[in-house]
Amino acid sequence: MSWEVVIGLEVHVQVNSKTKAFCGCSTEFGTEPNTQTCPVCLGMPGQLPVLNMEAAKKTALTGLAINADINLESKFDRKNYFYPDLPKGYQITQFPLPLVENGYLDIPTKDGGEKRIGITRIHMEEDAGKSMHEGLDGVSHIDLNRSGVPLMEIVSEPDMRSADEAIAYLKQLHQLISFLDVSGANMEKGQFRCDANVSVHQPGTPFGTRAELKNLNSFRFIKQAIEYEVIRQIELIEDGGEVVQETRLYDSVKGESRSMRSKEEAHDYRYFPEPDLPPLRMSRDELEAIRAAMPELPGQLRKRFETEYGLSPYDADVLSQTRELASFFEALVAAHPADPKRCANWLANELLGRLKEKGMDISDSPVSSQRLAGLLERIADNTISGKIAKDVLDAMMEADDDADAIIEAKGLKQVSDSGAIDAIITEIMNANPDQVAGYRGGKDKLLGFFVGQVMKASKGKANPGMVNQRLQELLKG
Ligand code: ADP
Ligand code: MG
Ligand code: ZN
Repeated sequence: MSWEVVIGLEVHVQVNSKTKAFCGCSTEFGTEPNTQTCPVCLGMPGQLPVLNMEAAKKTALTGLAINADINLESKFDRKNYFYPDLPKGYQITQFPLPLVENGYLDIPTKDGGEKRIGITRIHMEEDAGKSMHEGLDGVSHIDLNRSGVPLMEIVSEPDMRSADEAIAYLKQLHQLISFLDVSGANMEKGQFRCDANVSVHQPGTPFGTRAELKNLNSFRFIKQAIEYEVIRQIELIEDGGEVVQETRLYDSVKGESRSMRSKEEAHDYRYFPEPDLPPLRMSRDELEAIRAAMPELPGQLRKRFETEYGLSPYDADVLSQTRELASFFEALVAAHPADPKRCANWLANELLGRLKEKGMDISDSPVSSQRLAGLLERIADNTISGKIAKDVLDAMMEADDDADAIIEAKGLKQVSDSGAIDAIITEIMNANPDQVAGYRGGKDKLLGFFVGQVMKASKGKANPGMVNQRLQELLKG
């Protein structure tokens, strides 16, 4: 039987804000447990929440970036459930009337095309606290610093048909969120979290029952969890069983999932309008001001890199992956404007390659854009060859020195003095009389052998163009 996979994703994104969604408590990450709470975010009776308008504006900005409709009036609701990390007994969220509806993202497909993934809605809500079990013997503790941190939940349509498409969508969304600067989007810190809804069915029949996979905090685990779930469901159905609607937890160590609870239906949450908050109203002028302040988005940046600097689509894509990388590239070009292609090659291939080996990010690069430009200048003015420049860059990764200091200290200056080059050539020719005779007898290919020998004898420092030219002259005899 042929099965079709159906995936819809719910992504929770912590919105950048110094204060929480409905109170003035700090949202700083990693502080002492329970030091950033107040009666509002602890859910004490009689306290009144006040909406953080900055978080609302960032959610609207995200909505505009996914081509969605922004509801100028939206409402808050209470989603009632008890959980140890939610002692107040309900979460403030938006249910029937969210701030953002009907958007989409276009994701790249394997065949080089694009596929449109619908985004049903983005609603505002608040984060819960965090239960802590690690290092505690038989008890759990609770940290409520995260309770009330502003979240936006981005709900996709069930439009994805494979784990790869789901990952492509998530990467695209993650990049967009980062460019918009509406969230730190750090997955390890829980600022960008994904729940995956997965089902299988026979093409042409209604969708199957879905299971929801929770707690997926890296792209790799999300892919693994979806692939595992697809196989589990297909085997279950083919063995005569039925998929039940439930929430499952994926264990990345064991590589398998287990049922956490049967999935609640909306009516189990007893949603009702939040009586303590007025509707969220945004004026058309406010919305237009948000639209006007929209930063350059990844797609626009990629196109600009192609047209403004003549980069290949591939290089433009690599260098527009993050804003930090793009800024580094633009600073590099500003400092070495003669050759943007060279800047792109050295950044994308050489520097990024070295950073990757060290497990570093462009923001941790020990070589600044200014210093990399300094190195490229020395290639451009023939002080060193591209080959030697790679060694210099290796040294720059380790030492806090610029290219000139390293070239000087290691005596790497290219030899462009024709007398010195001729002397090496003569020496090589004397040592290899058979090859000289062969070349003169018509074996042109031997030129490569001589170039190699001369470069080796000069420890790579001879100017390769001059070596080529002088060899051809001297070999003629
Ligand atoms: P709930 O409120 O129970 O979470 P929603 O209707 O909001 O349900 O859907 C949640 C997510 O599940 C959405 O991302 C949606 O695209 C996805 N989804 C809905 N039906 C299916 C299905 N049959 N298979 C896979 N995903 C689905
Ligand atoms: Mg849901
Ligand atoms: Zn508070």
